[in-house]
Amino acid sequence: MFKRVLLTALLDIIFVICQQQPESDISYEFSSVFVADIPHVKLKMTIEASPDGTTLLSFPDEAWGQENLFKTLGRMQLLNVEGVVEKDADSGRVVLMHPAGLKELEFEYFLKQDFEGDISTQEIYRPIINSDYFHVFSHNLFMVPENAKDSMDIVLDWTSFSKDFTIHNSFGSKERVQLLNDQDMDLFDSAIFVGGDFRIYEGEIQENKISLATRGEWIPFKDDEVFQVLEKTLTCQRNFWDDHSQEYFTVTMQPFPQENGSSFQGTGLTNSFATSVSNNSFTDIGQLVYLFNHELMHNWIGHTITNDNEEEQYWFSEGFTEYYTYKNIAKNKINGLDGAFFVQEINRTIRDLYASSISEVPNAEINYDNFWSDYEYSKLPYWRGALFAFYLDQKIQRSSNGQQSLDDVVHHIYEDATQKGQKLTHDYFVDVITPYWEGGFESIFQKHVEEGKKVDLVSLFEELGLEYKPESDIYELGFEFTEDRKAIQNVIENSKAWVAGIRQGDEVYSRSIWQGNIEREVELGLRRDGEEFQVSFYPVKKADVPQLEVSESNLETLGF
Ligand SMILES: [Zn+2]
Repeated sequence: MFKRVLLTALLDIIFVICQQQPESDISYEFSSVFVADIPHVKLKMTIEASPDGTTLLSFPDEAWGQENLFKTLGRMQLLNVEGVVEKDADSGRVVLMHPAGLKELEFEYFLKQDFEGDISTQEIYRPIINSDYFHVFSHNLFMVPENAKDSMDIVLDWTSFSKDFTIHNSFGSKERVQLLNDQDMDLFDSAIFVGGDFRIYEGEIQENKISLATRGEWIPFKDDEVFQVLEKTLTCQRNFWDDHSQEYFTVTMQPFPQENGSSFQGTGLTNSFATSVSNNSFTDIGQLVYLFNHELMHNWIGHTITNDNEEEQYWFSEGFTEYYTYKNIAKNKINGLDGAFFVQEINRTIRDLYASSISEVPNAEINYDNFWSDYEYSKLPYWRGALFAFYLDQKIQRSSNGQQSLDDVVHHIYEDATQKGQKLTHDYFVDVITPYWEGGFESIFQKHVEEGKKVDLVSLFEELGLEYKPESDIYELGFEFTEDRKAIQNVIENSKAWVAGIRQGDEVYSRSIWQGNIEREVELGLRRDGEEFQVSFYPVKKADVPQLEVSESNLETLGF
């Protein structure tokens, strides 16, 4: 008799334990609800209450270039106690007022998409919530207590969604209950959460999980092509850095409609890369190969190896990333691209740099203001840095008879970054490369990085015995707009624009210009003396810009 009672009691206890939520500092329960036919995500959060009766939750009204994010908030209420909920968009917080001395608060809020129609590039960083799926970044999904510790135990409960509604995010895939123990809150705040009709592709690299989550009907490529590119890219990059420390990594890729041209937006986040890609015939897998290789390379160059002074070292974090994007793609034949691709990309980079009107401005002029506002400044560190890396790589290989290369230098930098927390400063870079360099690297660095002078590619090509053409077509628009871009300010005489008939003072009523692209015609609709006419021309000029031949001998010399 006694035994049976004990057994019953034990069962009861077990039953109670199973019903309980796991211990956590914060728990979020998600569900899908409709309010007046509008789909919402409902979050019920359980947190510790502030003893003084005012609990502050942070939820930014402005983030990632988006404003008025409070417009995505719907109904909010305290569930376990009477109280008042106040929104304070200016300070980016929601204030919960409740009786003092309370232990725990249960609070729910509704989140919705606050724009109508198709997504465009403007709205990618706002919550997307419809009856098929949701796509939301952490900072716009979670309200977090303002006094949160640096790391917390978090429970995410998705059990109320139907089984065929895929749940996928920076912290796991297809898990209905996620326990994030001792979760760093900064990393939690920088994450992507998707759910719904996403398709998940999974693989393993040395027992570490990788995945791709995508949805919609892709026009330019097939899911498995994309996943193959991702898997190969990650494998090659991790092998290159000998770094297989990331246990879980995912890429989310959502399509958006776009009529003309292609565009990509991508954000590196905790354990993940979230990207949105135009879904049309202008977009192709080659662009994705570049995007993945460049962006995922930042995991090491830029993220692990950090710039000491952001823009000042963009020649390294963007330029070297660019160089290793081309080199790794070609060395590993990602998507079938090989040494010819490498040569073509080096050639294009040379043309881009030589065509730039600011190709030789000092490094110090690449600063926050002009980098983010001026196209040429925003590109300069990529071009200059990539060609500098190419130059260093070839010189080091040459002087060491192929025993060493720039790879050894960047591995050295990576080791110092992980083991000593070394940041990338200019003095450090000079120091680290000196053992690999034959004589006086400091003046080389001074001239080509600090002062911004172009490296002498003709001498380099001669020295290495590379076949090249000394002249090439480079981009030249040939005219300037007036400040309001409604008329022609001036035209370079005898340029292609001039030959096409454009003259100073012409009014411009339509235009199509692919900046920096010599393969696309410039098309202008002009008005002169009340008469409208159209002109089109290729924006090129011949210039002393050396270009490598794609020849077998060159590929061999360059190590392909
Ligand atoms: Zn980059």
